[in-house]
Amino acid sequence: MLLIDSHCHLDAPEFDGDRDAVVARAHAAGVRSQVIPAVQAEAWPKLRDLCRTTPGLYPAYGLHPMYLAAHLPGHLQDLRAWIERERPVAVGECGLDYFVDGLDRDAQQACFEGQLRLAREFDLPVIVHARRAVDAVIATLRRIGGLRGVVHSWSGSEEQARQLWRLDFLLGIGGPVTYERARRLRRLVAAMPLQHLLLETDAPDQPDAGIRGQRNEPARLAAVLEAVATLREVDPEEIARATSVNAARLFGLPPPRDPPDEVATAAR
Ligand SMILES: [Zn+2]
Repeated sequence: MLLIDSHCHLDAPEFDGDRDAVVARAHAAGVRSQVIPAVQAEAWPKLRDLCRTTPGLYPAYGLHPMYLAAHLPGHLQDLRAWIERERPVAVGECGLDYFVDGLDRDAQQACFEGQLRLAREFDLPVIVHARRAVDAVIATLRRIGGLRGVVHSWSGSEEQARQLWRLDFLLGIGGPVTYERARRLRRLVAAMPLQHLLLETDAPDQPDAGIRGQRNEPARLAAVLEAVATLREVDPEEIARATSVNAARLFGLPPPRDPPDEVATAAR
């Protein structure tokens, strides 16, 4: 079973001590590809180097709304240059966060829209963070127009989900779906059209119910897969295949494969 983690912060300092082991465990769990969205300009070089040296890791570059204080006026122009030179798989993580106190909404909006325009200019998908701000995000996507992408860590209503599907957006589903108390989310995931579903961990954040309170990691995508398959009463293999195709198509990734040595072993 081969999986793509569509949203993992593997470049985060939480993984500095054991990143190779984390990647190895992800591989062992079938997670052969990971999309790694950036959070702030200062971290772009580390992210680029990590993705260059580790097969199966794909960067997105952007300015995360929670890191608003770190974003300087010139960073949007810097982002343009980075995208042009580095050709990432997406723009992000960008978006709106109305949950965290003290994040100026007008400044967030300007930063978000600037990134959406870059995504449209370079014909890249966007990776969107929307916390307590789903309606504002939808209105912005609609106004800018001509976009595609994913709203990650989905937490909105079914009606909001439908509006995003009509805008050609997917929903990222991660650890929260493994908690029984997440009734509205679980109802949506049980019935939503499979072509709009992406699996994600958001590691090191958002641990699933099996590792509650601990550091999350990409190998745990298997637990998210299991929960989604159980809710939909289908074989996990079917969800793995469909969501891998969705992620590969959205981000323009090669379909996940077994590494060549395993293929060779199987052929012998
Ligand atoms: Zn994230």
